[in-house]
This record gives sequence, structure tokens and C-alpha cells, in this order.
Amino acid sequence: MELKEAEFVRDYINEIRAAYAVELKDTSPMEQYMALGHLIKRYNSENWTDTSKSYRKNDVKQVYYFSIEFLPGRLLQSNMLNLGITDVVKKGIRNLGLDFDKIVRAEPDPGLGNGGLGRLAACYMDSMASIGMAGNGNGIRYRYGLFKQVFMDGYQVELPDDWLRNGNAWEVRRENRACLVKFGGHVWMQEQPDGSLKPVYDHTDDVLAVPYDTGIIGYHNVVTNTLRLWSAELPPNAEEKYYSQSQRDNIDDITKVLYPDDSNEEGRSLRLRQEYFFSSAGVQSIVRHYLSGHISLKRFAQKVAIHINDTHPTLVIPELMRILMDEHDCPWDLAWQITTSTMSYTNHTIMQEALEKWPIPMFQGLLPRIYQIVEEINRRYRAAKIPVFGEDIVDRTAPLGDGQVRMAYLAVIGSHSVNGVAPLHTELLEKDVLADLYRIYPEKFNNKTNGIAERRWLEVANQPLTKLIDSKIGKEWHFNPKLLQELSAFEGDTKFLNQLVDVKKENKQRLADYVQSEMGITIRTDAIFDVQIKRLHAYKRQVLHMLEIIREYLEIKHDPKAEVTPRVHIFGAKAAPSYHYAKSVIKVINALADLVNNDPDIGDKLKVVFIPNYGVSLGELIIPAADISEQISTASKEASGTSNMKLMTNGALSLATLDGANIDIIRAAGKQNEYTFGLTASDVYGYYHRNDYRSKAIYDSNPELQKVVNCLITNMIPGISTEGREIYDSLLQYNDEYFVLADYADYVKQQKQISQDFKDVETWQKKSLANIAASGTFSADYSVARYAEDIWQVPYKRILK
Ligand SMILES: *Cc1c(COP(=O)(O)O)cnc(C)c1O
Repeated sequence: MELKEAEFVRDYINEIRAAYAVELKDTSPMEQYMALGHLIKRYNSENWTDTSKSYRKNDVKQVYYFSIEFLPGRLLQSNMLNLGITDVVKKGIRNLGLDFDKIVRAEPDPGLGNGGLGRLAACYMDSMASIGMAGNGNGIRYRYGLFKQVFMDGYQVELPDDWLRNGNAWEVRRENRACLVKFGGHVWMQEQPDGSLKPVYDHTDDVLAVPYDTGIIGYHNVVTNTLRLWSAELPPNAEEKYYSQSQRDNIDDITKVLYPDDSNEEGRSLRLRQEYFFSSAGVQSIVRHYLSGHISLKRFAQKVAIHINDTHPTLVIPELMRILMDEHDCPWDLAWQITTSTMSYTNHTIMQEALEKWPIPMFQGLLPRIYQIVEEINRRYRAAKIPVFGEDIVDRTAPLGDGQVRMAYLAVIGSHSVNGVAPLHTELLEKDVLADLYRIYPEKFNNKTNGIAERRWLEVANQPLTKLIDSKIGKEWHFNPKLLQELSAFEGDTKFLNQLVDVKKENKQRLADYVQSEMGITIRTDAIFDVQIKRLHAYKRQVLHMLEIIREYLEIKHDPKAEVTPRVHIFGAKAAPSYHYAKSVIKVINALADLVNNDPDIGDKLKVVFIPNYGVSLGELIIPAADISEQISTASKEASGTSNMKLMTNGALSLATLDGANIDIIRAAGKQNEYTFGLTASDVYGYYHRNDYRSKAIYDSNPELQKVVNCLITNMIPGISTEGREIYDSLLQYNDEYFVLADYADYVKQQKQISQDFKDVETWQKKSLANIAASGTFSADYSVARYAEDIWQVPYKRILK
């Protein structure tokens, strides 16, 4: 948009006066931020209404992306960027004597997700708007986001994240679009005048779902899409009907907290209520909106695509069936045809424990009508498939089995498309996790490799690098990130390579300043910044990284005079509060950090910093500063990964197993520009099939490994007698489920190679450049364009090949 500085300054001062009735000089950064947010929202309001109007006028097919998590990060800078007003606003703010960085930091970072799943949904929202596609988000407005992590005595402590305390500048409450979601009660069949039977659903516990909409601003276009998050409230008749305190609390609880766990199912009825709550509210509002512009529901699937991001929103399938049949008298077959043509599903994990299953009694008690519909889907599935495929395979894949509702199977059966998120992951879905369903529905399966919003992870997070790139190849890559490839022409340009070094140094300094002020640890910026940031999980193998730190520590202790390449090991990770093992790993890394950072023999050759409260905002600080990107999951376990892409585009070299999208990153950037190691997925499956992995044998055969692993139980690291033993036992007594010891030697070899290679600045920088240049292909813009073409069948404006 066009904006003059003088105009902005005038509007901003007015905004401050109107909102706070004080002079600018008497406002806090929080107030300055809120006023700026409101002003920008106002500046964009015309685009937002115009976008909705134009979709309606042109009867554009809409995509609704359902996700129980959205992790958008702070919106101020990305909205300014996308509107093209960054320079004007920054300058105006500066000339008013305000500190822009302080204003930026005053914005709470909405933690409405655990990690990669929620961040992917947010990147996709940004990309859909930016390529000019009618893509809406649908999720939950959690009153409290993912917990705030602090360390006390090295242990993780979880504090509530009261992110709405000062209000939310970007959202709009739309009470007039609220709808009722019904739980419990009874279903009975009522005879109609024509003799047919119709289900009546009554004595329900009703919850009012109120939508809060946030505009998702496209990049330098006039598109603004909508992210709709639902909040649970008392129904409007609350005055007449009596609600006990516990009934009120039950309603409140539905959207109170995000489940702080993205892999283990809590098996709790509250989680199921959350899932049905936002699925039902979302589908109701979609149907209502659709019918405001169409007479019949017959062509619904031509105008609406609903995407199920992981299994949590799977109940959109029976919910749409319910609305079509019970509220619009659609016969089953037509309703089923409309529903399956509308729905598509992304699977995000091969971890068995993350495939959601609900005990039938719980499901049926909470959602009796929905259960009847699932039962009928199940009955028809069996009747249709048993004659063709036999009873065994149909038993294994039916939506109901083992006394449970199996959400992933329901999602596959009720959708027309099922995708994995990287080529290896999709292959494993077809061969292993969903192999039976693949046999029955091979045509539904496809791959859509994850992507990231370059705008946030490069243009917002790494402004020095963005400026440097622009100075070399212009700005066209902002619209078409594959053009970053043009940078490879400058591989031999020593001046440019040196400028890249300077940029990295500047970013490392910024992080070092943060670490100094927040943690009191001094780190040197000429050290290798070796970064592992992601949820703490056994399969992601922070333990392998930890063993390498112990090895490096022992090595320096053994010969304090020997020359080493200085290193800083940087971690960021939250552990699910109930995940005992993960919390033990945090404790041990923190204890190890204490030992290493305070040992005079070590000095500044080796530092370990576990930065608390990892989230999108910290990612934006850490990623531009990274030299090494640790992507060391057990092969086959990380479906895609996206921090690998963010780090690549910021010039970090990957130290990676052949897992998830690492494989594609290595292929894109060239093997010689990354460090790969370890078992392949087929090696891992080989061990499973032969059942012959013995971690103890590896331990016995490698004296150096023994020394390192033994440090977990020798009191060398103070204060971890229980936690050290727990990890030690997981590696030896319990046979090392994630093959840490199997990969250890190969991993160490590559770490040593990195220490060597880092000394050759020019060669290193060329590799870094190769990573940046090849990273454009992982832009989420391309990912959503592929979804649009192959799955959703919706148009978009920006041409992306
Ligand atoms: C990108 C991102 C993730 C995903 O990281 P992976 O290493 O791919 O698991 C998790 N959390 C946040 C805050 C992110 O930005």
C-alpha cells in the first residue's frame, strides 16, 4: 500500500491519543505496539473486506485449512513487510523518538501450537494469501498458549502463557457469526408424516462457538485472507437456563489450553471435545456461508475444499455428513459423495502412538449422533470392501476396531486425497504405516513436501542477509524464491563471500548479546554455532548431540593445550510436561552446560547454551546465526522437518541423517555441501525385521564411546545421578530404541570433519552460499501451489513453476 511518512505519523499520534488518552511520551512499549497494531489493521481493513467481497462476487472456490495448531509468530513485522510499509513506518517511529525494536518485542508471540505442525499451518496461511489463493484457516483460540519454559536448577518448569492479557491487536470478534456445538444428550428416531425416520438429537449440552478472525495479509498484493479461531462460551440463553459452576467451567475448559504435547495422545475426553468443537463450528460456518450464496448443496464440493491437517480435525467428515443429512435432508449416498469430494488429509507422522484413537464408550457418550454416522461409515466400508479385499485387511483398516474409533483410517476413507510431507515419508506411509489402506485406495496417496515462508524466515528474521542478496540479484526472488539460485553465479566472488561472512558475524553477535544478557554466558562469535532447535523428543536425538559434547569436553580435558576449533552448542527445545525422559535430557544438558561453561581448562573453546522458551520469536533470533543445522533424527522417524529448511535458507550447513526432507535438502544443495551420516531408513527397517539390533555390542566394541556414555553415571557431571542413569539405561539396558549408539561413530566423524573444514573460511562460505542458493525450492509458496493444483483444485494468481 501507499503510505507517506507524514500521514503515518499523524495517524499514529491520533491512534495513541484515542486509545490511551495520553501523550506519546507517556506510553509504554506495549501501548505503542497495540496502537501500531490497531493502526495497521485499520490500514488493511479495506483490503480485507474487498477480498471477501471479490471472492463472493466471483464465486471463487474456497479452501479451509483445519488445524488444531497455528503458530503464526509475532505479526507486526510480517504484516508491515507484506503491506510494503516497513521502511516508512520504521522511519516514522524513529523520528518520533521511539525504539522500534522495543515495540516489536512488546508483541506477545501466540503459542497456539507445539512445533512443526502448527508452524507449517501458519506458513501455509501466509503463502496462500501471498500467491493469491482463497485460503482460510480454522482452529482454536486458546486462552493460554503453549507454556512458557523456564529452567530452575536446570529443570524445566512450565509457566502459563497468558498471551491475551493485554488484548490482541489483530483479531476481530464476530459474535454475530457464532454457532452452537452440541455434546452429550440422546438421539432418537422420529417418524415423519411420509413414514420415514429422522433422527432427533436432544437433551444436549450446548456450547457457543464464537469466532475471532485475523486477517492474513498477502505479500505485495491486495489479498487478505482469514484465519478463524473459535472460542467456547456460554450459550446466549444462559440467563434463562441455569448453569452450575461446574457446567460453566466445562465450557470454559474447551478452549482454555493447548495440549502441550504433539506426539503422545492424552486420551482425554477434553481433547476430543476440543477436536469436535472446532471441527463442528468450522463446518457449520462454512455451510452457512456457502448457502448464503448458493441455493443447493449439490455443488458444494466444487466451491469448497476442506483440508484436515493431521488427524485432529477428522470429525469434519462425520460432521459434514450430519449437516447434509439431518439439516438438509440429503440422502446418504449424495452426502457421502459430497463429503469425500470435499475432504483431503495430510498425515504428519509415522509414530504409532500419534495416530489418534478414541475408546468407543467415551466417543459415543460425548458425540452420540456423530458416533452413529461413524458406525454407518464403518458398516458401509466393510460391506463394500470385504468382498473385494477380504476380511483381514478390512478388519485392520475399518474406522471402528479394537473397541476404538481410529481417526487416521476414518480420515483416509472419508477423503479423496491423502498426502505425506516428504518423499521418504510418503513412501513409508504407503509401505508401512498405511500400507493396507494404500492397497485399497492407491489413487488417493500423494506427496506434498513441506515448505517454509521465506518472507518470515529470511526477509523478517535476517534483514542483513536479505539486503545483501537484493544487492546482488535484485528483489524478484521475493516473489519467486527459486530465483535465489542466481546467487550461485557469485561462488567465485571473494568480496561477496566476505560480505556473507560479515552478515553471519552480525547475526551471531545479535544472538551472543541475547545470550549474554539473558543467561549471563559469554560466547565468541568466531566459534562454530552448532544449533539444534526443535521439540525435545527421543527420536530427534538431542542425546546424540549431548554425547558429542561430552566427547569434546573429554578431548579438551585430556590435552588442554591442543588446538581446537571453538564451538558453541546451542539448544532450544520444550519438553511435554508429562514426558519424563525428555525432561531428564534437558536436565542433563543443562548440568553439562554448567560443567563445561565454568571449567577453566575449557575456557572459551567450548560452550553449551540451552536457551529457554524456544518458540517462533527465538527461532528468528537463533536461525540467522547458525553455522551448523543439527537434523539428526533416527532415519524414518522425522516425517519432513522444517527447521532444516529455515536453517538452510539462512546459510547453515546441515549435519543430517537421511531422514524426512533432509534427503531433499541434500539433493538440492549437493552432498558436498552438507554433512550426512548414519543409518538409512531401510537400515532401520532391516533391524526391525531381523530383530537383531544390540546396542550393548556396539558399546562393547567402541572404547571411546564407552568412556563418553559412562560419564552419564560417574558423577563427572554434577547433580544428575537419577537423570544420567535414566539415559544410560535407555541406551544400554533398554537397547537404545532410537539407534543412538549405532550412529554415534559416524556422527562423531562428521563433527570432527566440521571442526577441520570450518577453519577454511572461503570454502565454508561457498558451501553456505550453495545452501542459500538452493533453498528457494523449499518455499511454502510452491508447496501450497501444488496442493492447489493437485488436491484442492483452486485457482491462484501468482505463477509458480
Ligand atoms: C519450524 C519450527 C519447528 C519445527 O522444527 P523441526 O526441527 O522441523 O521439528 C518447531 N517449533 C518452532 C517454533 C518452529 O519455528
